Amino acid sequence: MSYKVKVLFDGYSTINTEGLSANCSCVLISGPKKVIVDTMSAWDRDRIVEALTREGLTCDNVDFVVSTHGHSDHIGNNNLFLKAKHIVGFAVSFQDQYFIHPFETSEPYIIDDGVVVIPTPGHTLDHVSVLVRTSDLGTVVVAGDLFEKVEDLEDPSLWRLVAGSDNQEEQEKNRNKILLLADWIVPGHGPIFKVTENMKSNARQGLK
Ligand SMILES: [Zn+2]
Repeated sequence: MSYKVKVLFDGYSTINTEGLSANCSCVLISGPKKVIVDTMSAWDRDRIVEALTREGLTCDNVDFVVSTHGHSDHIGNNNLFLKAKHIVGFAVSFQDQYFIHPFETSEPYIIDDGVVVIPTPGHTLDHVSVLVRTSDLGTVVVAGDLFEKVEDLEDPSLWRLVAGSDNQEEQEKNRNKILLLADWIVPGHGPIFKVTENMKSNARQGLK
């Protein structure tokens, strides 16, 4: 299957005098199925609709909405997508129907050949990421807040303390796993980055 990943909006986070200014990366995965990952905050409704229009899509064309976790900046516009199945963390639903899926036992949720939702707990205990096999970039993982931004590889306090982690040990393990699987990573609050050989060898060491 041929899939493409388009970052509609780059996430960001900066500390200021009032606290934190942040919004998440919002990603469109297109191929036979259309998937949107992380729908930003409630104030971004118009921007998301406009970005989809630029891609030649309406909200009703979207088959799956994935929120990597349930924080307010990752679920804000899920209700734009009323024809889509919604995956919020480990919960899979459509309207009032909830579907049982054993993410707890590391079982991936297959959206299509080459688009898979995988459990990556740590930032929250039911955090998920979306792994996409693309025709142009190889394997792209839309990783939500498993990674805050590329800088958190050099400065782990960014994911451990600034972003916060419900289970640092699990998160570190899942970060290393994803670094070994991915060619590119879309972090929750920064631009997409390429996984270098150096990052992979550090991840290999970390998993030993
Ligand atoms: Zn976030």
